Amino acid sequence: MAKFNRILLKLSGESLAGEQGFGIDTQRLNEYAQQIKEIHEMGVQIGIVIGGGNIFRGLQGAGKGFDRVKGDQMGMCATVINSLALSSALGAIGVKSRVLTAIRMEPIGDFYNKWKALRIMERNEIVIMGAGTGNPYFSTDTGSTLRGIEIEADVMLKGTRVDGVYTADPEKDPTATKFDDISYDEVLQRGLKVMDTTAIAMAKDNDLPIYVFNMDKVGNLKKVLEGENLGTFVHA
Ligand code: UDP
Repeated sequence: MAKFNRILLKLSGESLAGEQGFGIDTQRLNEYAQQIKEIHEMGVQIGIVIGGGNIFRGLQGAGKGFDRVKGDQMGMCATVINSLALSSALGAIGVKSRVLTAIRMEPIGDFYNKWKALRIMERNEIVIMGAGTGNPYFSTDTGSTLRGIEIEADVMLKGTRVDGVYTADPEKDPTATKFDDISYDEVLQRGLKVMDTTAIAMAKDNDLPIYVFNMDKVGNLKKVLEGENLGTFVHA
């Protein structure tokens, strides 16, 4: 029996770049697809939101002279590219998925609405929700929080390349220690970089628990669904 019935899985675009640091690393992509297949076989209903940082980020683009809104729109397009790549990788291993987008772009994906997403999951297919919230000045962390709340997910699983939430960035500070458990308020007060403030505040206001774990270690996603505590739980 899986720990959660319905999840919103947030995957980082940046992690998808793998060792090459840019674009889509096919090995990482296939590892993600394989891990998702494992939990799909456990009967979990799965909604996925994937970032676009491996291709473009509006804020970084603005620093280089891009118009912020156009840059964010480029970032949202990047999330659609990643969504299609993941859907394709899932299909290659026999897992059916559908891409819905927050910005109209049929036939690439149907235009998102909550009930379409629910119907897809009820058919035992995976729903991948691209283009973030459809609006500039938001992140895919906020997009995935929004979608997680909308599809009434039991939890948002935030797959990252670190093992959970630390007192400081463990990639920069070797003395940083990991929390097993932390409240939304403490994340905000300590200014921890779990997700941006908008996303944390939204999760808090709507009671969406978040579980942060290392998705880059193959097998971890299944362990989380089996109830192993290998990451950090963020909740009220
Ligand atoms: N983005 C946006 N609105 C949204 C979601 C994303 O404008 O609702 C843009 C934004 O420019 C962001 C980029 O898409 O930087 C890629 O998403 P993000 O940085 O969240 O990806 P990740 O860090 O997960 O790779």
